[in-house]
Amino acid sequence: MLDLKWIRQNAEQVQTAADQKGIRLSLEELLLRDEKKRTLLHETEALREARNKLSLQIGRLIKQGADGAAAQAKLQVTETNKKLEAAEAELAIVDHQLAELLLLVPNIVSPDTPVGRSDEDNVEVRKIGAPRSFGFEAKDHMALGELHDLIDIKRGVKAAGSRNYYLKGAGVMLHRAVQQLALDMLVGKGFTPLDVPLMVRTEAMNSTGFFPLGEDQTYRISNDDKWLVGTSEVPMVMYYANEIVDAEAPIKLAAASTCFRSEVGSAGRDVHGLYRVHQFAKVEQVVLCQADPTLSEAILQEITANAEELLQLLELPYRVMAVCTGDMSQKTYKQYDIETWMPSRESYGETHSSSNLHDFQARRSNIRYRTKEGTLKFCHTLNNTAVASPRILIPLLENHQCEDGAIRIPEALRPYLNGMERLEAN
Ligand code: AMP
Repeated sequence: MLDLKWIRQNAEQVQTAADQKGIRLSLEELLLRDEKKRTLLHETEALREARNKLSLQIGRLIKQGADGAAAQAKLQVTETNKKLEAAEAELAIVDHQLAELLLLVPNIVSPDTPVGRSDEDNVEVRKIGAPRSFGFEAKDHMALGELHDLIDIKRGVKAAGSRNYYLKGAGVMLHRAVQQLALDMLVGKGFTPLDVPLMVRTEAMNSTGFFPLGEDQTYRISNDDKWLVGTSEVPMVMYYANEIVDAEAPIKLAAASTCFRSEVGSAGRDVHGLYRVHQFAKVEQVVLCQADPTLSEAILQEITANAEELLQLLELPYRVMAVCTGDMSQKTYKQYDIETWMPSRESYGETHSSSNLHDFQARRSNIRYRTKEGTLKFCHTLNNTAVASPRILIPLLENHQCEDGAIRIPEALRPYLNGMERLEAN
C-alpha cells in the first residue's frame, strides 16, 4: 500500500508501475473517486453543521414563543437530514470503491529494475559454478527417485490428486536435511526461528499484500474464514501487524513451514516430477528494518547472499537474476531470483526469490517504529527463500549422481544424515 497523498502527487509514476507489472488499474479513476470522496466529506460536514445550527435555533425560537418560525425550522431540519442521509450513503459507496482500488495499487519499482513482460526478460547478474558435464548418461530426478525409492508420484496422485507426491525413506531424510541445514545457518546468523500458523485469516492475506490479487493462488478452508498459507512470509509479517516495533537493529525471522499453492494458471506447465507441486516445504527469511533505502538495499544483498551460501554448501551451480517489472508481484520494489542448474531441464530453474518491499507491506499491515526524533515510521520489509524442497531435490539428486547410480551427499548435509557420504543404489 502506498500513501494516498503520495499517490496523488505521483500518479503518473504509480500508473507506470501498474502498467509495467501488468496490473489493471486506472489511476485516473482512483483519483476521481478520491476527489469525490473529499467533496462528499465536505458536503456531509456542512450539512451536519447546518442541522446543528437549526436545532439550536429551534430551541431559541420555542423559548421566544415564535412557534411558526420554529415549525418552519423543523421542516428545514427534516429536509437537511434527508440530504445528509443521501450524501452519507453515497460517501459509503465511494469510500468502499476507493478502498478497493487502493488495494490494487502496486509498489513502485527501483530505478535499477529491468523493464520487461515475463521471466524471459530477467537479467543475469552473476553465475556461480559451472554446469557439470557427465561422462555417462545422466538420469533425471524421477529416475533417480525410482532407483533409490525416494519419490512416489503415482500414489501421491492417488491420495491427493495431480501435482502431489510422497517422499519416502532417504527422500524424506534429504528433504528434512536441507531444511534443517538452512534453518541452522540462519539461526547462526542471528535470525530468530518461528514456528508459524499455516491457516490464517483473510485480513492476514490482505495485510501482507497477497490479496486481493493472489486470491486464486490460495486454498480456502471451506468451513472457516481462513486460508492455507502459500509462504510463511504471511504469518511472519503478521506477527508484528498493528504494532510499534523496536527496529534499532533489523528484526530477522526465519521459519520452516509447509506451503500450499493452487497453481491456477499453470496447467500443462512443469508437469514432470517435483518442480511444480501443490504442497512443499520452505525455509523463509523475513527481515524488518528502518525505512532507510540504503539499509534495506544492503539487507536485500545480505539475504540473497544467505541463499547463495546455502547453494554453495549444497555444491550446486546457480545464477542470480534481476527480476523484471512484469515478473514481479504487486508489492515488490526490487527482486532477485536465484536459479539453480537442473541437468534434466538443461537449464537453470528458479529455486529462490529475494525481495525488498520498502514500506509497502508494513504500511498495509501497519508495522511502525519510533525514530530517534520520536516520530512513527513504517518499516521496510524484505523476504527471501533459504531453501524450498522438494524443488531443490531436483538439482541436488541430478547434479550429485554418480555413474553407478549412487548420489554423492555434499559434506554440509552429512551431519544431518548420520554422516552418510553416498546414497547407494539398491
Ligand atoms: P515464492 O515464494 O513464490 O517466491 O517461491 C519461492 C520458492 O519456492 C521458489 O523459488 C521455488 O523454489 C519454491 N516454489 C514456489 N512454488 C512452488 C511450487 N508450486 N512447487 C514447488 N516449489 C515451489
